[in-house]
Amino acid sequence: NVRVRFAPSPTGPLHIGGVRTALYNYLFAKKYNGTFVLRIEDTDQTRYVANAEQYIIDALEWCNIPFDEGPGKNEKFGPYRQSERKELYKEYADKLIETGWAYYCFDSSEALDAERKAHEAEGKTFIYNWHNRAGGTLVNSLVLTDEEVQNKINSGENYVIRFKTPQDELLRMEDEIRGNIRIDTNTLDDKILFKGDGMPTYHLANIVDDHLMEITHVIRGEEWLPSMPLHVLLYKAFGWDAPKFAHLPLILKPVGKGKLSKRDGDKLGFPVFPLEYTNDVTGDVSRGYKEDGYFSDAFINMLAFLGWNPGTEQEIFNLEALIEAFELKRVSKSGAKFNPDKAKWFNQQYMQTKSDDELTDLYLPILKEKGITKDKEFVLKVVSSIKERAVFVHDFWDLSSFFFETPTEYDAKASKKNWKEGTAELMQELITQISSIEDFTSENTEKEIKEWITAKEIGFGKVMQPLRLSLVGKLAGPHLFDIIAMIGKEETIKRLENAIE
Ligand code: GLU
Repeated sequence: NVRVRFAPSPTGPLHIGGVRTALYNYLFAKKYNGTFVLRIEDTDQTRYVANAEQYIIDALEWCNIPFDEGPGKNEKFGPYRQSERKELYKEYADKLIETGWAYYCFDSSEALDAERKAHEAEGKTFIYNWHNRAGGTLVNSLVLTDEEVQNKINSGENYVIRFKTPQDELLRMEDEIRGNIRIDTNTLDDKILFKGDGMPTYHLANIVDDHLMEITHVIRGEEWLPSMPLHVLLYKAFGWDAPKFAHLPLILKPVGKGKLSKRDGDKLGFPVFPLEYTNDVTGDVSRGYKEDGYFSDAFINMLAFLGWNPGTEQEIFNLEALIEAFELKRVSKSGAKFNPDKAKWFNQQYMQTKSDDELTDLYLPILKEKGITKDKEFVLKVVSSIKERAVFVHDFWDLSSFFFETPTEYDAKASKKNWKEGTAELMQELITQISSIEDFTSENTEKEIKEWITAKEIGFGKVMQPLRLSLVGKLAGPHLFDIIAMIGKEETIKRLENAIE
C-alpha cells in the first residue's frame, strides 16, 4: 500500500522544483493506487510566511494534482501541520535519550565558535561527533552526571538534544534512483534533533511523522540527500522500518551552470513559480506560469520531463498517460536543464488539443475588455482560424485583431514592396469587382476574384498582396478569403478605400 508525501515548509512561494517534487509524488501514488499526503513542515517559526500554505494548496489544485490527505482533508493521520503536532516530538526525543541514541548539549554559541576556530587553525573541519563529545570545552550529558544535567535543565539553561552518531561504521543505504550509497559515519555531524524552545528540528519531526503517517516512499529533491544517512540512522535508532528513498535531480538553468533560480525566471520573462500570489508570500513576484498563460496540463507535461523520460520518442502525455508511464527507475541522476522554448512548445501543442469552444470562452473576456462585443459564433470562427499559430491565448489578439478592427497602420516594409504605381487603380477596380459579388462566402469570393485576376492576365501577387495589406495591415494571418467572408462585403470595401487614401 503505497503512501507518499509532499512535505513543503511554508516559507514562501513554491519553486518549480517543489512543484515537480509534488508531481512525481502524485504520479507515483496514483500509479500504484496509493495515497498522496500533504504535510506542512512549519516547525521553523522564524521562516514562517502567512498564506504560504494556501498558496501551496492552490498551486497543487491549479496543477490538477490534489492531495488525498492533508490539512482539512481526510485527516486520518492528522494533524498534518507540524506546528500542531508539537507536543508529540518531545516524547520521541526522550526515547532516544533513554536508549542512548541522543544526548543533551549545553554549549553556548561562543563555545561552539571557539571550537570551530580552533579546528580551523589546525586546518581541520569541526564536526560535532565522537571526536569532541567527551571532553574539550563542550558541555553535554555524556560528560555530566544525570544530576548535573537535571539541574541545568531545571535552572532554565538553554539546551539542545543531539543525535549520537555511531562511530566507525560504514553505512549502507539504497536510493531508488541513485542505487547504492555508502558513507563513513565518522564524517557525519551529531545533528540537533530538538531545541530548548520545545520545537523539534526538521530531521526529528520529519522522521517521526513519516513513520506515524506510514509513509512508504520518500521522494524529494537532491538537496536532501546529505540528510539521508541521519534519517536512515534515526529509523534504526527507533527500531522502525525505513521507507524507500528517492532523491530527484536538480533543475538547472537553461544556460550556464547551477540551479534554476527566481532570477533566472525573471530573465526568461516569467518567474519560475507556478502561480501568482500578490500578498506577502511572494512580495515582488507578480507573475507565474498561470499568469503567463500556460495551460496547467501543458505545464505539468513539461514539468514531468524535467528529470524523467518514458524512454520513447513520445512527448505529449496527459496526466493519465503520465501516471501510466511514470517510473522512478526512469528518473535521471543528473540535473535537468530547464528549456523555456520547450515549455512554450508544450503549450502550443496543448493549444491544438483544446476545443474552439473552450478557447473562445477564454478569448471572449479579453475582447470584452477591449470593448469588442462580437457574438460567440463569430469569435469561434476567428479562434479556429488562428489557434494553430498561437502559443498562448493572450497571443490571440495580435493574431486576430484585424477580424475586429480596421487596420490603422500598414507594415512599412511590406507596403514599399507591394504597393507600387498602379496598385491604387487596381484596388479601385477590385472594389467594383467585389461590390458585384453576391454570394459572399469564402469559396465564392475566392473563385470570382481569382477568375477576375486570371482574365486580366496579371500575377496573383499583384492583387493578393496589396489586398492582404489593406485588410490585415501586414502580410500575415489566415486564408485571405476566410477573412473577407468573415468581415463582410461592406467592411472589405471600406478597408480597401482606406488603404487607397
Ligand atoms: N520540509 C522539507 C522541505 O521543505 C521536506 C524535505 C523532505 O521531503 O524530507 O523540502
